[in-house]
Amino acid sequence: MNILEVRDLTVRFGQRGGGQLTAVDGLSLTLREGHTLALVGESGSGKSTVVKALSRLLRPDAGELLLHGEPVRGGRSALRAYRRAVQVVFQDPFASLNPMHTVDHHLRRPLLLSPDRPRGTAAVTGAVHDLLRSVNLDPPADFAAKHPHELSGGQRQRVAIARALAPAPQVLLADEPVSMLDVSIRLEILNLLDRLKRERDLALLYVTHDLATARHFAGEIMVMYRGEVVEHGRSDDVILRPAHPYTRLLASAAPDPGRSRAELAEARSARLAVRAAEQRVATVAGGCRFRNRCAFAMDVCHTRPPNLPAAPGHTARCWLFDESATARPA
Ligand code: SF4
Repeated sequence: MNILEVRDLTVRFGQRGGGQLTAVDGLSLTLREGHTLALVGESGSGKSTVVKALSRLLRPDAGELLLHGEPVRGGRSALRAYRRAVQVVFQDPFASLNPMHTVDHHLRRPLLLSPDRPRGTAAVTGAVHDLLRSVNLDPPADFAAKHPHELSGGQRQRVAIARALAPAPQVLLADEPVSMLDVSIRLEILNLLDRLKRERDLALLYVTHDLATARHFAGEIMVMYRGEVVEHGRSDDVILRPAHPYTRLLASAAPDPGRSRAELAEARSARLAVRAAEQRVATVAGGCRFRNRCAFAMDVCHTRPPNLPAAPGHTARCWLFDESATARPA
């Protein structure tokens, strides 16, 4: 069942010295109950801006949000209801918790703001402990009494996840939830999110720069490049048979423990080249946004932007997959 749908989302930011940067350009996606969609891209691709727009931390310039098929309206009570239904887990567990307050305070507050909140002190304490157990922080009474500085990075992220679960959301937006954690605990947190998604039938958006984890934790992948979705499909299709030249480059640069040092160095330089290209192309209008780095660029790529086909299945925003491209004037 579709929980949250986004149609033609566009977000622009003003730039110093005038002009506007289109951070997200006409993005559409659907989050479904019990499914994970991974939004993958390098920094600067616009994926975190998508999270801010979906969590309504910023107002998009254009686009439509549908929750359970109904347009999301303005107004304070509608906004409160939306924010209860759509919760965010942020990248930085150190910044997302207030150092002055205990874990109990962080979890009690969203529980009390919920319309079907538990009644009575004992019931609220029981609900706080249930939340802590659900994220494997046991014994819960001990963790409830701690302050954030008494916790490890992984434990803080578990508290942040428990807080996001407190209002019983239907959608969880996980914005690079493990990128600031030790490598040794990343898998634990991703497994936790996956279990919670299954147990609670959550619609999960997993935002990451890491294609390898996207494949393992999401059934579906969208790849973003400079504000646009350039490829979309089932995870296995996108990873095993990447179509867009940018996805192929990302896949070739993805971590693989079996690679030699020379291959890893080559992968690293490929990633740096993409970042440099992103900055160069920022000021160049028209044509495909990836054309300056693309080994397959044709004349048409320099003059006409390719579209992402609306058809379901594995799609790519690239003239290579549009039979009419060669017939178009350059
Ligand atoms: Fe490369 Fe052209 Fe495809 Fe863009 S549209 S990715 S430049 S082949």
